[in-house]
Amino acid sequence: MSGGYDADILIAGGGPVGLAAAAALAQAGFQVRLYERAAAPPAFDGDRVDARVYALSPASLALLDRLGAGAALRGSRFSPYRAMRVWEDEPGRALCFSAAEAGAEWLGAIVEHGALAAALAQALPAGCACFAREIVAAETDEDGVALRLADGSTERGRLLVAADGPDSPLRHQLGLATVGWVYDQQALVCHLRPERPHEQTAWQRFLPTGPLALLPLADGRVSLVWSCRGALAEELLALSDAEFALRVSTASQGRLGALSEPTPRRALPLRLQHAQDYHGTGLVLVGDAAHVVHPLAGQGMNLGFGDVAALAEVLAAARAAGRGWWRPRTLAAYARRRKADNLEMLALTDGLKRLFGSEQAALRRLLGLGLELVDRAPLAKPALLARALGR
Ligand SMILES: Cc1cc2nc3c(=O)[nH]c(=O)nc-3n(C[C@H](O)[C@H](O)[C@H](O)COP(=O)(O)OP(=O)(O)OC[C@H]3O[C@@H](n4cnc5c(N)ncnc54)[C@H](O)[C@@H]3O)c2cc1C
Repeated sequence: MSGGYDADILIAGGGPVGLAAAAALAQAGFQVRLYERAAAPPAFDGDRVDARVYALSPASLALLDRLGAGAALRGSRFSPYRAMRVWEDEPGRALCFSAAEAGAEWLGAIVEHGALAAALAQALPAGCACFAREIVAAETDEDGVALRLADGSTERGRLLVAADGPDSPLRHQLGLATVGWVYDQQALVCHLRPERPHEQTAWQRFLPTGPLALLPLADGRVSLVWSCRGALAEELLALSDAEFALRVSTASQGRLGALSEPTPRRALPLRLQHAQDYHGTGLVLVGDAAHVVHPLAGQGMNLGFGDVAALAEVLAAARAAGRGWWRPRTLAAYARRRKADNLEMLALTDGLKRLFGSEQAALRRLLGLGLELVDRAPLAKPALLARALGR
């Protein structure tokens, strides 16, 4: 395959990571085309808070600013949080992180899926993103990639960036294997109104059945992510709104008083997954196509944005040095840069899930004490804080 390219880089998937990749690579001077099967990017709905929200780190927010998406995002129910409180059984023995301790204004911000996608879509060059265009097949060789779309058309480029999500049809088709497992937990998500102010704090309790997080929203409500075993998730889904709100209030030990007005609940399956290779001939993986982590640390999207920043930097540096920016050697440099960070987060979230999921009373007592000790540790706490800030 050579010559006749429609663009330098073709991107599969217009989720937040694919959109950010398109913006970053276009900004680095590459000609980019993105294909998304959905009819249009999700839009920001001024009347209703999106059910899907993400805790983004300062490093991710800085990337969005550099890409020209920050201002639109900040104008859309952007909810900065200044502290994080993590506890197990006794609220008094909590691990507390605050922005002030880190010399930062915020620890991060809660943003809505629709607002994030809309902010990124408006930052793209005109004509770069093609919606309602599903990729059905791909062929790659050393010189480039040819995509076949559902409408029968073919598109050609030098490199294919797969940002097509955890089930990544392209990763499967082009033979990149993954390792991982399905967790015995599902994440139950919805928004609730707390009786007491959320204090711009992210609250998380580690229950034996799984972590329960209450994330502060801009309208004063909180977003619940309760990871729990399948049977419990089913039981919680079947409760009336009032019964469910009471269960969450009790499970969070009333930290925010009584919770009420739950929005419709959804349970999402959870897994750990990691691609053994992040690249093949003419193909590179970013975001959930490369790695899927347990949501207990709210890091999946942040890792995807880290991939995007590294990929744009590595490809631009190779091109500036006159090297083949689409060649496996360049793609291997990207993979080396990202794998350590991504694997560290996979291991950390998996380890926390297993440790706190233990039903052994002695171990759980030790963990409760451990949180209190980390809170006072002069070395461990700043290191954890730096990781949370994406430094
Ligand atoms: C309960 C829960 C809470 C979470 N909370 C956080 C958090 O607080 N912070 C955080 O950083 N992360 C969080 N995450 C992780 C985050 O949701 C994911 O990491 C992120 O959504 C991955 O984005 P992506 O763009 O890689 O993939 P996706 O959002 O899955 O996007 C993939 C896109 O590819 C498109 N596509 C697929 N195949 C094709 C094809 N053949 N042709 C065209 N288009 C195609 C799809 O339509 C889709 O739009 C959470 C996850 C869960 C489950």
